Amino acid sequence: MDKRQQSLFDGEEAPWVQDDAQDFLVAQVVFSEQPFGPYDYRVPEECRNQVALGKRVLVPLGRGNRTREAYCIDVGSAAERSAAVDMRKLKPLRKVLDRDPLLNPEMLDVARWISDYYVTPLGQVIETVVPSGVRAQAGTREVVLLDVPNAVIAKLTQLKLPPKQSSALRALASSPKPLTVNELSKRAGCTAAPIQSLRKKGLIRETIERIETSEHALDSETDDPPKLLNEQQEGALRQIGHSIDSGEGGTLLLHGITGSGKTEVYIRAIQRVLHMGRQAIVLVPEISLTPQTRRRFRSRFKRVAVMHSHLSQAERHWHWQRIRRGEVDVVVGARSAVFAPTPRLGLIVIDEEHDASFKQDNIPRYHARDVARYRASLSKIPLVLGSATPSLESWHDAATARSDRISLPGRVRNLPLPEVAIVDLRDEFRSKKSWGMISRPLARGIQETVAENGQVMLLLNRRGFATSIQCPACGFVLNCPNCDVALTHHRDGRKAVCHYCDYVVPEPSQCPECLFDGIRFAGFGTQKLEEEVQKKFPGVACLRMDSDTMRKPGSHEMALERFRRGEVQILLGTQMIAKGLDFPNVMLVGVINADTALHFPDFRAAERTFGLLTQVAGRTGRGDRGGRVFVQTFTPDHNAIVLAAKHDFAAFAEQELPVRESLRYPPWGTMARFVVRGPIETQTQAFADRLGDRIRSYVQADAATFRVLGPAPCPIGKLRNKFRFHLLVQGLEAQSLQTAVRAVSESLQVPEDIQWVVDIDPLDML
Ligand code: ADP
Ligand code: ZN
Repeated sequence: MDKRQQSLFDGEEAPWVQDDAQDFLVAQVVFSEQPFGPYDYRVPEECRNQVALGKRVLVPLGRGNRTREAYCIDVGSAAERSAAVDMRKLKPLRKVLDRDPLLNPEMLDVARWISDYYVTPLGQVIETVVPSGVRAQAGTREVVLLDVPNAVIAKLTQLKLPPKQSSALRALASSPKPLTVNELSKRAGCTAAPIQSLRKKGLIRETIERIETSEHALDSETDDPPKLLNEQQEGALRQIGHSIDSGEGGTLLLHGITGSGKTEVYIRAIQRVLHMGRQAIVLVPEISLTPQTRRRFRSRFKRVAVMHSHLSQAERHWHWQRIRRGEVDVVVGARSAVFAPTPRLGLIVIDEEHDASFKQDNIPRYHARDVARYRASLSKIPLVLGSATPSLESWHDAATARSDRISLPGRVRNLPLPEVAIVDLRDEFRSKKSWGMISRPLARGIQETVAENGQVMLLLNRRGFATSIQCPACGFVLNCPNCDVALTHHRDGRKAVCHYCDYVVPEPSQCPECLFDGIRFAGFGTQKLEEEVQKKFPGVACLRMDSDTMRKPGSHEMALERFRRGEVQILLGTQMIAKGLDFPNVMLVGVINADTALHFPDFRAAERTFGLLTQVAGRTGRGDRGGRVFVQTFTPDHNAIVLAAKHDFAAFAEQELPVRESLRYPPWGTMARFVVRGPIETQTQAFADRLGDRIRSYVQADAATFRVLGPAPCPIGKLRNKFRFHLLVQGLEAQSLQTAVRAVSESLQVPEDIQWVVDIDPLDML
């Protein structure tokens, strides 16, 4: 010990100072709750061989040294670590909890990226990356296994033992695998006592193992024979193949219209990756994880794990372990499957990449597409994004060479796209003959389809609260002059409010455009539609699918199965029915009101409308008898509707992107959305104002880079008795925006009762 150390500890040797003070291990850990860390701990000698990055440890925390569970995110020798802290003052960690790491270095790297990008503590991110069933080791228990060490086997014949012990030892030595105490006593025909004696003498070795406590069954298979790829599919596969072979990775946007056979292309690309001894992850929207999809992958690949939401904790854990051991070739799952711990990942596919369900709406608010892009870049493997209606973010990336674009412009078997007829609801309204939701042209179409034994899908995408103000006579919608989003009607106070910038006007008594004095508020429900269908088409089997009728797990699948079997002729519902379904007998699709999504207070309203119309239209015309679509709307001239009717995504993007650019909405720049909520309106607003001031003063110096909107009430202004306000911060690029968010949130004094969150790249603007 040198002088300096002696003076530090008053001549007494600190208990944790080892001989060579510079050569002990330091573990850096984070917590999943406040304080999040990271903090350094000294690794005591007895934990040296167990501690590793990605394992959980128990550490003392704070003055009282309460024991807390933490994640080890780094291990290094004290000498390597920064001199800024006095390493010798570190508290020692108490215990290493996991035998195997929960995160490998790659997944920890991904977790760090999420933590930085989404400005979320790493400990919280890790709890998302590692499923809770895995952390709890659900479905397994520990057993003590016995075997005989080699050294003992070598001198087995020389040992002098009582007969019972001797026969037990021989029984164990001759077993091809380790045995539990019970198994051994059964085999040797003895009680536990002689076994216990052998353990005490050190002649038997004990190891603790985790074993499965439940059986796991896989879905049944059905046959989905490989298709002979058509020319355009071959071309797409070739391009993906180049990217796989190049070893450089990159993002490929596969823009293929509905029914163009994208899935078949994914399957072939995956096969190629498997031949290289690698694995693939396929992300699909949760709603698309139907038995149909599952069976399709199962019948084409032997070792598949399908991660859907109805898995038990034990099943999830079981799959995760199989994946980690490399026993699974293809992982198919919703958003969180992007964290599958595949040891040699070769390809990530995201089907329906535009789907909003890929963004998590609670902490950490990550988007699986961006996580996948990062993960793919780490491993230098391709990321394939497939959609008929790509997100404008992905489209823009492809246009600016951040990724490559591949097109499948035609349907398989040269099937035509369905013809789309736009029904002008203003005409219907003027004629005053029909006050229902189903127009006369649509009713006629349904009648004809039913008579031909075809099936019908009716889409009514409505969400209860957000009501735009629309004139039924001319279709005019009241918009915000500053933000280009629809104003929302507030019944109390009789006003129309912009939920981005807080612009307010009194509720109009007549239409500002055509002066019609019965301007009313859009909004019907699926239940009312069901009644109308039953009344208009008596005797025709009809089924409603929405979040009210589909509460029970499995009900969604059952409903689709009944529809597939033809027991139901008219399927009506919310956007639940719009996605991914492949039923050849659907000959007519009706969209009850295309405007409901169009006038949402959201800058993506037009994009969503276009996407939804295209997707739902794509459900028809998949068989040989063709298909048609009726789109009912009050705004038949709106771009999103006109171009969706023409199935022209490229034209839509070309119209929409300049609008986004002019207002700096994504894909231009990035955005952070702060949401503040609290029980008292004035207090909540006051805090939102304060937060706004703080942000404004932070970004003031950099007005060219940032723009701050709000605070304004959220479109859902009150939720579960909490008032809600939000603020939007737009920045030119992600990093400086995140730095700003971090700076603003640090040491922010938050009144009791008030909560705030920040969402980077928000999709949900409600
Ligand atoms: P998408 O995902 O692009 O909407 P799918 O991959 O679901 O399209 O394919 C639509 C249908 O066409 C499926 O029933 C599929 O089995 C079938 N299919 C795909 N490729 C071919 C092909 N080359 N020849 C014939 N049928 C095909
Ligand atoms: Zn506004």
